[in-house]
Amino acid sequence: MTIVDARTADPKRFISGATGDWEVIIGLEVHAQVTSNSKLFSGASTKFGAEPNAHVSLVDAAMPGMLPVINLECVKQAVRTGLGLNAKINLKSVFDRKNYFYPDLPQGYQISQFEQPIVGEGKITISVGPDKKGEFEDVEIGIERLHLEQDAGKSIHDQHPTMSFVDLNRSGVALMEIVSKPDLRSSDEAKAYVTKLRTIVRYLGTCDGNMDEGAMRADVNVSVRRPGEDFGTRCEIKNVNSIRFIGQAIDYEARRQIAVLEDGGTIDQETRLFDSAKGETRPMRSKEEAHDYRYFPDPDLLPLVFDQKFVDDLKAGLPALPDEIKSNFINEMGLSAYDASILVSEKAIADFFQAVAEGRDGKLAANWVINDLLGALNKASLDISQSPMTADQLGGIIDLIKEGTISGKIAKDLFEIVWNEGGNPAKIVEERGMKQVTDTGAIEKAVDEIIAANPDKVAQAKEKPTLAGWFVGQVMKKTGGKANPQVVNKLIKAKLGIE
Ligand code: ADP
Ligand code: MG
Repeated sequence: MTIVDARTADPKRFISGATGDWEVIIGLEVHAQVTSNSKLFSGASTKFGAEPNAHVSLVDAAMPGMLPVINLECVKQAVRTGLGLNAKINLKSVFDRKNYFYPDLPQGYQISQFEQPIVGEGKITISVGPDKKGEFEDVEIGIERLHLEQDAGKSIHDQHPTMSFVDLNRSGVALMEIVSKPDLRSSDEAKAYVTKLRTIVRYLGTCDGNMDEGAMRADVNVSVRRPGEDFGTRCEIKNVNSIRFIGQAIDYEARRQIAVLEDGGTIDQETRLFDSAKGETRPMRSKEEAHDYRYFPDPDLLPLVFDQKFVDDLKAGLPALPDEIKSNFINEMGLSAYDASILVSEKAIADFFQAVAEGRDGKLAANWVINDLLGALNKASLDISQSPMTADQLGGIIDLIKEGTISGKIAKDLFEIVWNEGGNPAKIVEERGMKQVTDTGAIEKAVDEIIAANPDKVAQAKEKPTLAGWFVGQVMKKTGGKANPQVVNKLIKAKLGIE
């Protein structure tokens, strides 16, 4: 098969070797566990963390005579995901048996989809950067297909000196395998791609994206070539289970291949493993040892057929996706692309921000959510669902700033108080006397005192008007940050006779 190269070579992404530039080509096969209560072909639970073999039906254990029955919810989840990937939904698809022997695969085959997957070609946009100028670049990455398949069980080798155990809880759980085109050109792009994919499925609610629990993992295909040449032979690194490791595996593998080629060697198509402790990939099996899966249509399952209305109804029920929300934030609220992308990175963050921004200044709300709230959450290692401050409380603080009731500086203190103690921001300001002083008389008194106490500075400021800032600082200090800074500024300039 010849693959049409969708990208123009970009020197920015080249890797320089000893004998010149190289380009790395990456394609990812991401396995995403479908969010559903029961398995793809049985009614057993998919709950994570149960006692070994607690969620195993006779179908999952492949008892003789058992028949698979397709789980409609898993089909819907695959279609929703396909729609979220801007992909072609195939109204007819076929389940095949992929035959191989492994102790944690009781059927002796995995039910998967081969030539006729449920979802065909699609695309997603990733944002790569920032570059040296702090800019981000949007890149479109092609999706080859998405198919449904069963997960296998798990062999456990470290519980007994002479025996291995098998846990079939995962056996039969629905996976979506999402295959990208070989459109990725750097480890950063690959990481951005998986991050984006994860964000999309989490918005859709079709996969929880929890990589620690194995709900998302990737097979990483890597090859290198001289810019402008045909694709080189690829190696596939199996089952990489974190975004950081995906990046490390690619960087290592690209360097390894370049070294082999520059030494006059050739790359053998092989399957490799990533050793995260050493940060290296090493061979697992060569092309000669590759499985012959002897795919054939599963005789126990009819082709999966649905009509366009089924797809349209699912489409109508989809939530807004991050790209759409991001462009609203940019175009309607005037946020920067950078801020908008932080706010849409998680649905819960976007929802929180929208609740804060509702009826308020979007930019101010974005600043407080990004710098203060996300900053504080990060420091406390909490995620947004655990935030001790609600959107209403943060909105209340912003309202007090906007009305001129408190200064920006006092607002930071108020944030601390609400974060630590909770409560209604307006009430706290009232009770603790945190209101901004706009009363010119009171401020004037403070200004006069500072001026009287610092005749030398007054003389300097008359020469160098920027020194007025020093006076503003002193007055703010004297008033415990409660003076309205604009009023202070005006008064000081007037009294010093500078403009
Ligand atoms: P297979 O069926 O053997 O797994 P596919 O053609 O389906 O092979 O490709 C699997 C993955 O490998 C896809 O994500 C694809 O983009 C990627 N890929 C194909 N050719 C290359 C290559 N030369 N370099 C890097 N990745 C590649
Ligand atoms: Mg493959």
